[in-house]
Amino acid sequence: MQNYDEFLKNFYNIITFDLFIKLLVIYFFIIWISIIVWVLKDITNRTNSLLLQLLSLFIVVFLTPFWVFLYLLIRPGRTNLEKMYREIDDNLDLLSTIMKDKYWNCEVTICPKCNYKLSSDFKYCPECSTKLKTNCKSCKKEISLNWKTCPYCSKKVKEEKDEEKK
Ligand SMILES: [Zn+2]
Ligand SMILES: [Zn+2]
Repeated sequence: MQNYDEFLKNFYNIITFDLFIKLLVIYFFIIWISIIVWVLKDITNRTNSLLLQLLSLFIVVFLTPFWVFLYLLIRPGRTNLEKMYREIDDNLDLLSTIMKDKYWNCEVTICPKCNYKLSSDFKYCPECSTKLKTNCKSCKKEISLNWKTCPYCSKKVKEEKDEEKK
């Protein structure tokens, strides 16, 4: 029991106000370093700008860690990953538009004479050799014989034909 009493006595001697302050300071520095590491990770995720990264580091290293709230105010709202997703989304929209254009160009039509299925870029029907395309008299662009109006210059194609007959 003697030993135990001495141990308790020593224990109370060790735990002094000084030690308490030291522990508090150590605790403070651990939090500070954690916040610096977190800010470093967070800012490199959010921006590639070296200036912003250094500014964020300055805020948490040279001002106290409590200034991390200032960092939260000035940091870019979106992470690089979120920006990347946004870009992919925009590119998908663009791709969708391109695909629609392609689909439009590949639109299947039917030969007016033999009902054979044709691709819109065919100039003659592969089945009955009917001429499918002509050139607009006004703008010289290739247009389908079925069209009533040239889609490039808005000239009436059917009227041109009637004029030819006269
Ligand atoms: Zn045909
Ligand atoms: Zn035309």
